[in-house]
Amino acid sequence: MSFRLRVLVSFLLIVVLSIGLFYFWTNRRLGAFLQELMIANLEDHLEVILPLIDLDHPDLDAVVDRFTEGASFRVTVVDRSGRVIADSAFSGEALHRLDNHADRPEILEAMRHGTTRLYRYSTSTSDFLFYVARPLPDGRGVLRLARKPDDYDEISAGLRRGLATATVLLLIFGGAAVWFISRRLTASVDRLAEAATRISGGDFVSDIPVHSRDEVGDLARRMEQLSIRLEQQLALLESERNHLTTVLHSMTEGVLVTDERNRITQTNPALRRLFGLPVDPVGRMPLEVARNIEVNRGIREVLDTGLRREAEVHHAGSIFLARFAPLGRAERVTGVVVVFHDITELRRLETLQRDFTSNVSHELKTPLTSIRGYAETLLHEETLQGVHRGFVERIFRNAAQLSEMIEELFSLARLERGEGALRMSEVAFEEVMSEMARDFAERLASRNLQFRFEVRCDSDRFVAAGEYIRRVLRNLIENAVKYTDAGEIVVSMDRREEEFLFCVRDTGLGIPEEHLQRIFERFYRVDKDRSRKTGGTGIGLAIVKHIVRLHNGRVWAESRPGEGTSIFFALPVRQADPDRD
Ligand code: ADP
Repeated sequence: MSFRLRVLVSFLLIVVLSIGLFYFWTNRRLGAFLQELMIANLEDHLEVILPLIDLDHPDLDAVVDRFTEGASFRVTVVDRSGRVIADSAFSGEALHRLDNHADRPEILEAMRHGTTRLYRYSTSTSDFLFYVARPLPDGRGVLRLARKPDDYDEISAGLRRGLATATVLLLIFGGAAVWFISRRLTASVDRLAEAATRISGGDFVSDIPVHSRDEVGDLARRMEQLSIRLEQQLALLESERNHLTTVLHSMTEGVLVTDERNRITQTNPALRRLFGLPVDPVGRMPLEVARNIEVNRGIREVLDTGLRREAEVHHAGSIFLARFAPLGRAERVTGVVVVFHDITELRRLETLQRDFTSNVSHELKTPLTSIRGYAETLLHEETLQGVHRGFVERIFRNAAQLSEMIEELFSLARLERGEGALRMSEVAFEEVMSEMARDFAERLASRNLQFRFEVRCDSDRFVAAGEYIRRVLRNLIENAVKYTDAGEIVVSMDRREEEFLFCVRDTGLGIPEEHLQRIFERFYRVDKDRSRKTGGTGIGLAIVKHIVRLHNGRVWAESRPGEGTSIFFALPVRQADPDRD
């Protein structure tokens, strides 16, 4: 049912009900009122006639007849015994034949209590009559006036007709008024509804033609404000979308966006170029586009976990670094954005660099060994003294340092090539630390450094490739010793959910913020002079990073220059191949 019809029907109901009630009430009151009027009229006549009644009059009946000439009422006089002495309706013989009236209710009542009024059936006239009776002033009888309700019915019918006509007229005017008011009321609501339809269709109206100063007018103004604000917001969104499209189009990285059902919702031209797609693959599955299980798995994992991840993707001779990020909120991932960086060239250069270092190291290894050998032999020569011995000692020291560097480069190359499978076993942290404390004891003492280790979880056991992890810890402690002049070195082990967290903390010179990200790159050294003096090669942390990665772990550094450095590494509790031998 429409709003307008509802208003109309409700108003009509109210009007009809109230007019109906008015009609019935007035109708009922009208009957009672007319009766009252009739009886009051009879009483007036009774008042006039009463003093004129004299029971001792020889022809009282004729007197009574005179009173009622031309009148519409009947007069009856009875004595105390109920005998009818005079009656305007009966004369002569008929009067004498009348029954005794002592049992008439109005007579009885009048004798007992005085004036009485009644409306009852009369057996003498066989009609319904109004009666008024009052005892005579000397108490010897009762005067009764009676009247037929003929004119009462006539008047009452006339009045009722008038009432019915008035009611019908009221209903017609009331109905018209209701129709007019409901039309006025609903017209504003109709205009509001029309404006809302236009707004929802994108036609932002700023002037709704409802200008009343009531709640509806107020609502219209609010809707206008809403419409203006919505238009502004949409314009803003549109411009942001254009911005985003421009950014996406000018990117060299390929971008792919999927929804929660793993269907592509957006791509950029770079992606189509990288994957050689002739048409925009919107609506298709990523697997059809990249034909790569890694991409599919990455998207599925992000959809399931809501966590970012990275993967290396090989496609048609190219290598991409794919970064997956969730869309929406953490509790409800609504899609995934994948950004593909083409790292083919980078990988080629890395391989070149690795091969080059490996070749050079290989070539250098033999001559260096002989230089070291000859220098060592010369140093055993007692005749070698003074400045010459000093030269040979430096040759020996530098050649030894170079050999060490080449050894490290070899290990790094081996790690990078993934040679030599990790032999997993259970490692006891405290045992390893005790070894380290022994190995470094001399250097720690010479530099006046304290060394401590702490286990902050229940057990110090974890699964890892023991030798490799020793190497990691050794490299980190070595650095801590090298770059700390005073204070202490603390190595700790902790467990955080599904990871073992290790930390080597020192109170040394620290690393400035801008270098923190890069110290794990090979050959990267913060202060080259200092590293040279301390015998640093810039390979130690690169080895650490590779070993931790082989364990599927993470490594990072935190530092405050002048206060110290903490190098953290975390290993997943579950290792891929736990071989507890
Ligand atoms: P290096 O052989 O030069 O120590 P690393 O790869 O082990 O090479 O470290 C890279 C660089 O990181 C170092 O040259 C040094 O500048 C910095 N570094 C590493 N560990 C620390 C530390 N504990 N305190 C200060 N600087 C450090």
